[in-house]
Amino acid sequence: MPASKWIRAVIAALALAVSAPHVPATAAEPLAKDLFGSKPLPAAMPPKAYGFYSKGCFSGGVAISVDGPNWQAMRLSRNRRWGHPELVQTLERLARDGAAKDGWNGLMIGDLSQPRGGPMLSGHASHQIGLDADIWFTPMPDRRLSVPERESFAPKSMIQDGGLTVDDRLWTPAHAAILKRAASYGNVERILVHPGIKKKLCETVKGDRGWLNKIRPFWGHDYHFHVRIGCPAGSVGCKEQESTGSGDGCDKSLAWWFTEEPWRPATGPQKPRARDVMTMKALPKECRVVLDAPSPRSEASVTVGLSATADPVEATSVPSAMQELPSLPPLPSDRPAQ
Ligand SMILES: [Zn+2]
Repeated sequence: MPASKWIRAVIAALALAVSAPHVPATAAEPLAKDLFGSKPLPAAMPPKAYGFYSKGCFSGGVAISVDGPNWQAMRLSRNRRWGHPELVQTLERLARDGAAKDGWNGLMIGDLSQPRGGPMLSGHASHQIGLDADIWFTPMPDRRLSVPERESFAPKSMIQDGGLTVDDRLWTPAHAAILKRAASYGNVERILVHPGIKKKLCETVKGDRGWLNKIRPFWGHDYHFHVRIGCPAGSVGCKEQESTGSGDGCDKSLAWWFTEEPWRPATGPQKPRARDVMTMKALPKECRVVLDAPSPRSEASVTVGLSATADPVEATSVPSAMQELPSLPPLPSDRPAQ
């Protein structure tokens, strides 16, 4: 080997030796979404939310049952039926009130959180602390859907194709009523909807308009609305969101959504999404404890609202529909995010 070539080889080897330690160190730092996304059951600890809606986790989670008297949970393969008990109670209450008072046949329930919250492998930036839930604008059909149907059932967008306007063939007074009902609950702080839906409400709601304050325009949310409750009592590590102030929000903050700016495609190199790069360091330190905590003995033992008549003792000792689910054929898990 000529001397110059030999020197180059030594330099290359040295460079490798110097840079090598950095490569494994970065690669070895596991992503929080992988750690939280692989936990099938919640942390068996008292219920507490830690951190913020888009950066946190929670303990003591419970699952909303697959079927309730006035609801059906959808997309079961995602295993995102988990929330703080207060969120699950709120959803049950909304399902019950909506059926009894608002002419709403029942709720189709989309994603809540992963069993221990945290960033997700796909989809949502928020839904991390067990206080967020997506509810479809399509009312529940009159029959129970099968597990495969709950994967494939396509909810209808309330927004006309390619526009920002509500489709009046689909929008009904019951849609406004269910949103008003959810907003009437003291612990519900925000309800996210497509800007076109907010505009529709601004234009049509008469009389009491105070509840419109909680209805916030946001991207997506054309086929579902997103209910977010505030930090539950006792969750001292839960970070409150900014106040929505006063007023109905039918002002220039809404008008902005009907300009070009919010819909302009991003230019320049795409920044990775926060959930795709977050490591445990980014989350509250309690999330490490949540991640390492033992699981409850079964999913059924931490599932609430099994049915209006179910005996709670029976519900935990007799194999339930939920316990049978894992033995069904595996469902595709790589569905697009909602
Ligand atoms: Zn949402």
